[in-house]
Amino acid sequence: MIEIKNVSKWYGPVQVLQNCSTTVQKGEVVVVCGPSGSGKSTLIKTVNGLETIQGGTILVEGLDVHSPKTKLPALRAKVGMVFQHFELFPHLSVTENLVIAQVKVLGRSAVDAEQRGLRMLERVGLMQHRHKYPGQLSGGQQQRVAIARALSMDPVVMLFDEPTSALDPEMVGEVLDVMVRLAKEGMTMMVVTHEMGFARKVADRVIFMDVGGRILADCAKDEFFSPSSARHPRTKDFLDRIL
Ligand code: ADP
Ligand code: MG
Repeated sequence: MIEIKNVSKWYGPVQVLQNCSTTVQKGEVVVVCGPSGSGKSTLIKTVNGLETIQGGTILVEGLDVHSPKTKLPALRAKVGMVFQHFELFPHLSVTENLVIAQVKVLGRSAVDAEQRGLRMLERVGLMQHRHKYPGQLSGGQQQRVAIARALSMDPVVMLFDEPTSALDPEMVGEVLDVMVRLAKEGMTMMVVTHEMGFARKVADRVIFMDVGGRILADCAKDEFFSPSSARHPRTKDFLDRIL
């Protein structure tokens, strides 16, 4: 589903991704973790073309993300993304937030878009809030709307960039629950998170990135968490600090 091959990226003189390679199979859930500044956000943003790259290639369902021929709006519809800050349109109601990109990017009729959007809203358990504005919802609810909005586009992959790290602690669970359900339903997901409980529950693989934008570990979940595995000391340090 996703093939990341030898990807490098610089901001000016600073290299933030160094020859990163990995693949994500259909239905796989891959958790990306690592210290702040290690390039996790940059890496997943390159997957839907929000960031350019200077070396390597990224294919999503065979489509070359960084080829000038690739139409970015179509690609971004295939690749749903949920950010740390929910980025809903504050002046639009929940329903309008769900509808707008489906109409503008996919050319759906307003009626179809609303039907699809409300079905996704139901999936995240927020049907009763459809007429509200983002500012009238809690952070956790806004993030669930953001997930529903991404799902409304029928993505083949969902990318999450620390979706719970801006939330008050009591709201983290409701967002993770929605993500766990998505994972169990077979959605292909790449998730930047420090929620190792989530990783243990649903990840198939864990990627660990280190400062300088290198992938230091990329292995099956059980291997990543296994105390007996010959883990890289940096990975062990990181886990010791956050667990
Ligand atoms: P992470 O998500 O792991 O915390 P990021 O991908 O946000 O890391 O950042 C990786 C590195 O790239 C950091 O050193 C950061 O300072 C740098 N960086 C991120 N965005 C920019 C930018 N727009 N311009 C310059 N440097 C950036
Ligand atoms: Mg980040």
